[in-house]
Amino acid sequence: MKTGAEVVVIGAGIAGLATARLLHEAGKEVRVVTRELGEASRVPDALLNPVRGKRGTVAPEAEEALEALWDFYPRFGPVRRGILRPVPVADREVWKGKLEGRRIPHQWLDEGLYLENAGWLETTPLLHRLAEGLDILYAEVERLELNTLYLRTPEPRTLRLRAGRVVYAGGASGAHLVGLGGRFTPGSVLHTQEHFKQARSYGVYVAGHSLGGSYLPHRQTYTPHQTEPHEIEWLLSEAEKLLGYRPAYSSSWAGVRYRLDPDYLKAIPGGYALTGFGSAAYFYAPLYAHRLLKRIQGKS
Ligand SMILES: Cc1cc2nc3c(=O)[nH]c(=O)nc-3n(C[C@H](O)[C@H](O)[C@H](O)COP(=O)(O)OP(=O)(O)OC[C@H]3O[C@@H](n4cnc5c(N)ncnc54)[C@H](O)[C@@H]3O)c2cc1C
Repeated sequence: MKTGAEVVVIGAGIAGLATARLLHEAGKEVRVVTRELGEASRVPDALLNPVRGKRGTVAPEAEEALEALWDFYPRFGPVRRGILRPVPVADREVWKGKLEGRRIPHQWLDEGLYLENAGWLETTPLLHRLAEGLDILYAEVERLELNTLYLRTPEPRTLRLRAGRVVYAGGASGAHLVGLGGRFTPGSVLHTQEHFKQARSYGVYVAGHSLGGSYLPHRQTYTPHQTEPHEIEWLLSEAEKLLGYRPAYSSSWAGVRYRLDPDYLKAIPGGYALTGFGSAAYFYAPLYAHRLLKRIQGKS
């Protein structure tokens, strides 16, 4: 078995796969080591949303992130354009002020703010397309020491893998490997019978077959999450405010967001960490993967 590579990426979620894909396309020898294909990135449908929350905060570098994501994702599958944000009339002036001077294409409709350059995508087919043709080793990283990865094997010994540079993209569940701190927020998505071609977001969001959101408190460490009955009730009651009815659902998905402030790309001993995007991972991953590529190429 090959025991080294120029760059070893830990994790095959959207952060790891976007990075590995760009490095691979740039001719770098890149190997991905991951337990599985995506984890939190398997949130069934992901919004690409530049205007966040109920306060209308415009995401930092939203213009650059939008440009990078539209250059990247459509090469690997469909991205649905547009998100409707049904902002209450009383709040609209404040939101308008926040959008002033920003290059975020939008229109104000009777129903609210329509973000025409925002969008949403189905995650699982995208992750599979991104992974195609990459050198992926499915294994658990037990620990990381500078640029040496110690992999858990079924035998009583561990296997060592050396990287010219290591890129940590192991998300919430692998965060103990790099000890960067941050906060962990559990949340759930209901799989709806109805298909929402038009994404809507205010409090919770609907897109595709998803009704998602989270209101649970942050935690200081990672613990796996399972949907709790009171979350289902909360999602349905918020959906009623958003849609005027409670959509029928068949099952649920649960995950944990990992949030680091303020920079998602950090130098760590032996390489870099690209992680901690909170609920904006699909929004920022292409921009930050490009930045990481430039750093590895020595261009910034
Ligand atoms: C309810 C909810 C709704 C959300 N909605 C959105 C949304 O609309 N838009 C959006 O952009 N984001 C959304 N998110 C956030 C998104 O799900 C994640 O933040 C994001 O996908 C994380 O990507 P990642 O690549 O950093 O990590 P992950 O997808 O978690 O990937 C981590 C990878 O590392 C691997 N790994 C971890 N530890 C090890 C180890 N020790 N050894 C080997 N491999 C390891 C895992 O197997 C996995 O492949 C939502 C999250 C929740 C909970």
